[in-house]
Order: sequence, then C-alpha cells, then structure tokens
Amino acid sequence: MLEDLYQQVILDSSRNPRNRGDLAGNSSAAHELVTNPLCGDTVDLWVELSAGRISEVKFSGSGCTISQASASLMSDLVVGKTLAEARGLIADFQALLAGAPDEDVKDRLGQMVALEGVKKFPVRMRCAMLSFEALNRLLKRLGA
Ligand code: ZN
Repeated sequence: MLEDLYQQVILDSSRNPRNRGDLAGNSSAAHELVTNPLCGDTVDLWVELSAGRISEVKFSGSGCTISQASASLMSDLVVGKTLAEARGLIADFQALLAGAPDEDVKDRLGQMVALEGVKKFPVRMRCAMLSFEALNRLLKRLGA
C-alpha cells in the first residue's frame, strides 16, 4: 500500500534532501541530466572524482517524492566510494527492485532499502532508478 511506499525515511529525504545543488563552479566535475517522462521527474546529477573515488555529489531537479528521495539517499550512499563500488551499488539497487535481494545487498544499500516497496508499483520503478541511471551514465562517460 501507499503507506509502505512512503516510509518515513523517504518522506524525510524528500523534504530535507541531502546534497542538493550543483558543482558548476568546479571545472573537474561532470553532470548528467536524466528525465522520466512518465512522471515528469528530472534529476541533474553532479559528481567529482578524485583519486579514483567519488569525492563529491550534488543533484538538482524536481519531481515526485520517490525520485527526489532516491536521489538524496543515493547521493549520500555513493560519496566516498570507488568507481567499482559505485557500479556495484547500481547493480545492488537494481537487484533490490527486481526481487528478493540477499542480506548483503541490503547491508550495502543501507537506508535505500526504504525504497524496496516501489517494486509493488512497476510504474514508479523508473522514479526510484532515475538517479542511478544518471550515475551509471556518468560513470560510463568518465570511462570508469
Ligand atoms: Zn516519479
């Protein structure tokens, strides 16, 4: 039910998003704008890489609670991670939404497990995946 979908952590992340903004003033940062026409969501994700790690993440955008909460949670999750770890987290999140993830996957995803309920609402899956889609494109573009 919707109560499951909008757990407290999702609401908190949407109302008080972490890492909002951009890194436009930083010439070594890259960004990727992704949209979800089904829902009208946009996420413009900025990352800076430093010594093989994601040293900073910011995002802007607008849209539904799920898309913005996911971007906020994801930005906290991937900061400080190596590129390989970040790619692993993308796969972990896909596994979470695809079915029955094992406990290791849930441990690695931390608070993002709150979005698991989205899998009962296939039309909302893209909302939850949007920020990871942006991250995936960025990692590919940066040759990671
Ligand atoms: Zn949405």
